[in-house]
Amino acid sequence: MYKFLDSTLDFLLKEHQHPHHALLIQGREGLGLPYLAKAFARVLMCENPVYLGKVLNRACGQCASCHLMASENHPDFLYISPETQEVSISETESVPDKVAVAATQIKVQAVRALIESLTVTSHRNVRRIIVLDPAEALNAIAANALLKVLEEPPQNVVFLLLSARPGRLLPTIRSRCRVFIVSSDTMQEKALAWLEEQNIPDAVGWLEASQGAPLAARQLALEFDSLGIRARSNAWLTADLQQVLATAQGLKRPDLKAWLFWWYRFITDCLRVSQEVKPVFFKHDMLALRNLACKQTQFAWMKYLNLVEAQLRSAEHPLSAPLVTDTLLVQYCEMFLTKQH
Ligand SMILES: [Zn+2]
Repeated sequence: MYKFLDSTLDFLLKEHQHPHHALLIQGREGLGLPYLAKAFARVLMCENPVYLGKVLNRACGQCASCHLMASENHPDFLYISPETQEVSISETESVPDKVAVAATQIKVQAVRALIESLTVTSHRNVRRIIVLDPAEALNAIAANALLKVLEEPPQNVVFLLLSARPGRLLPTIRSRCRVFIVSSDTMQEKALAWLEEQNIPDAVGWLEASQGAPLAARQLALEFDSLGIRARSNAWLTADLQQVLATAQGLKRPDLKAWLFWWYRFITDCLRVSQEVKPVFFKHDMLALRNLACKQTQFAWMKYLNLVEAQLRSAEHPLSAPLVTDTLLVQYCEMFLTKQH
């Protein structure tokens, strides 16, 4: 587990060493909830755990259960996530071109199989742990199937529901869970040290941009580098159609969505600057950013940002991605032809 989660795990164990049958662990993406849940499960499953005073503290790392958890083979530990599926994006092209698209739903089959498995007694331990990551990915039927189990929980089964958007869970599911909130506040020092260990340049800036979520900060920094966002943003700053269009050319398909997110971040920074608020992501050329932001009104930036948001929502369809980027970029350049009031 990442060191920046240590104190969060201590706190989680202190509060929930005798866990309720359903625990909702909520926190922003990039805080490492899956790692926390696995570490928590390792301690709960351990046959010879280490205590700090009277509080469970760490797994022993030696017992049969610890070995099974380490090899991800523990029969009493289940981790359920949406499965990655292959989606064809070649409908308009002659060359077959499939990309793996992360599925967004946990289907009812997965939950039914899980319920079925609960009818058999546990293999090793008295306790079984089931992680649902993210819990809001349960589709409506799957959520209702889970709700039935939570209403009449089997003995010694603990459900860990991970969620960055608990508002999307069925209220009836939420009300059956105890809640543990993972906050970035308690991990900042260690998060920063960890990012620096990873040789992330401007770790402070990226951590701030990701609202304190270290894994998200690393992702931002790595993408900024690998997608050449600095060079691309220099072209965006010119607002010159040819230069701007070139920034979406030659992108590999899997990178298009990430590109679109960076474009969204760029426009939000332009809007911020037009409102005299500090930018979050593009601080390397403040003068050019300010000049660009001043070329349009706040209203125009807001209106354009709405367009980008609408495209982001439909960005799950990789088929339309190249067309989407070109259209957005042309609309962006057109925005500077007239100043709106
Ligand atoms: Zn152990």
